[in-house]
Amino acid sequence: FILLIFYMVRTRFAPSPTGFLHIGGLKTALFAYLFARKNNGSFILRIEDTDQNRYVKGGMEQIIWSLKWAGISYDEGPDVGGQYGPYIQTQRKDIYQKFAIELINRGFAYYCFCSSERLNELRKYQNEHHLPSKYDRHCLNLSKEEIKKRIENGEKYVIRMKIPDNEIIKFHDLIKGDVEFNSNELDDQILIKSDGLPTYHFAVVIDDHLMNITHVIRADEWLSSTPKHILLYRYFGWDIPQYVHVPPILGQDGKKKLSKREGSVSVNQFAEAGYLREGLINYLALLGWNPGTTEEIFTIDELINKFDLNKCQKAGAIFDPKRLDWINGQHIRKMTLEDFSNRVIEYVENYKKDDKRFAKVLDSNDLVSRFMIIEKQRINKLSEIEDDLYMLDFDYKYDINGIFNAKMGVDKDNIKDILEKSIDFIQNKLIINYSVREDEESKMKEEESIKQQFVSFITDLKLKNGQVLWPIRFALSGKDKSAGVFELVWAIGKDETIKRINASIAKL
Ligand code: GLU
Repeated sequence: FILLIFYMVRTRFAPSPTGFLHIGGLKTALFAYLFARKNNGSFILRIEDTDQNRYVKGGMEQIIWSLKWAGISYDEGPDVGGQYGPYIQTQRKDIYQKFAIELINRGFAYYCFCSSERLNELRKYQNEHHLPSKYDRHCLNLSKEEIKKRIENGEKYVIRMKIPDNEIIKFHDLIKGDVEFNSNELDDQILIKSDGLPTYHFAVVIDDHLMNITHVIRADEWLSSTPKHILLYRYFGWDIPQYVHVPPILGQDGKKKLSKREGSVSVNQFAEAGYLREGLINYLALLGWNPGTTEEIFTIDELINKFDLNKCQKAGAIFDPKRLDWINGQHIRKMTLEDFSNRVIEYVENYKKDDKRFAKVLDSNDLVSRFMIIEKQRINKLSEIEDDLYMLDFDYKYDINGIFNAKMGVDKDNIKDILEKSIDFIQNKLIINYSVREDEESKMKEEESIKQQFVSFITDLKLKNGQVLWPIRFALSGKDKSAGVFELVWAIGKDETIKRINASIAKL
């Protein structure tokens, strides 16, 4: 007869709610998500909040917000439910207790009544004598009667797992390869703390098992804890999941994890800085994974398609903001004009609404539409529209000295003359055609036509392009760096162009 085995890939992201979600955490979540989606499996969000000392209020909401922002959807989790819930560990307290008692009864775990004073003394002694700091198994052999008595007396206790002596624990990690640890390096790990809650190490094993997780994809800082977890699976007689330890994002020194000291690290900071989810996700996927080709720009669907754990590197990758910016810019170029405009509006509404100059972007008029077309070609992240807001709201308080460019060989009187002649040309000769619905193509066509007209005007004056175009562009933007002069003339129109040039003349 035919035996049908249903094997369904299930991965999870299991963050602790300790504050904002670090982009390293998002990268780990992304790898687990891509692997699940690629294999038509399920991706689960589980909140590991049993360490009450590290708990931060609102931490879970931050994690959920960040995953949603990034477009990483989970099939089961605290806010969406699922058949393996609850998905918040503190709500599963009773489950762990039962399994801990089972291990005690089978001789794989024991009660420990040692006070923190005693443990501190022990640690101090071990430090002073250069011994590994490990629990000395003081409570390993207490009699049943004694344990019973001490519990009844209300003494505080923890439950520890018994680590076997001198055993080599081997496993195969899909990124790190074959790994082995000697059990002598392991401490008799606390499984249940004196507050009755499980430690991470215990809860993670119980939950990954009960939630049928097939691939434990997590940060590689947990690699050295894995042998403890493997022992627990063995004690229970459960199947051991496949381990996948993802390397971290490194700071500039190439050694330590990217940290706050180096700038933005949390997902919400990247959102606020104007990165697109598409750009950040694409960049994070390439930090540690490569498709084996020179291709660099991927949509999330393309990533799902191409993602392969065998092409992940073992070592961490240094965070490179320039590459992130470039990739993000490529995603902006690729969007439709409508999507781009909507993203800009959404961005301004979320982060800049109270800024009067940014708020101009929310007006709906031809100028804003033309602004969007120009920006879509220019910026790498949405916040960069700030540098070009002079198009929508011109601040006349600029320093006129920027209009003199040393290389041009024209003085103040020359410039005045040039600007006056330009006004005459713009007013009486220059033709700008506007389409009913401008798009990138119509803009480029018109920009080219404006350029041709300017070039022949400048040739007639027997001047060099820069001698005319620099002062005009500066008069229109008040800046050394801005959008191109032809697209600016096109965007703000003849009247506004003339008005701004006149203002410069008045300052000369
Ligand atoms: N709760 C752990 C953390 O915050 C998760 C480790 C794991 O995925 O097993 O990093």
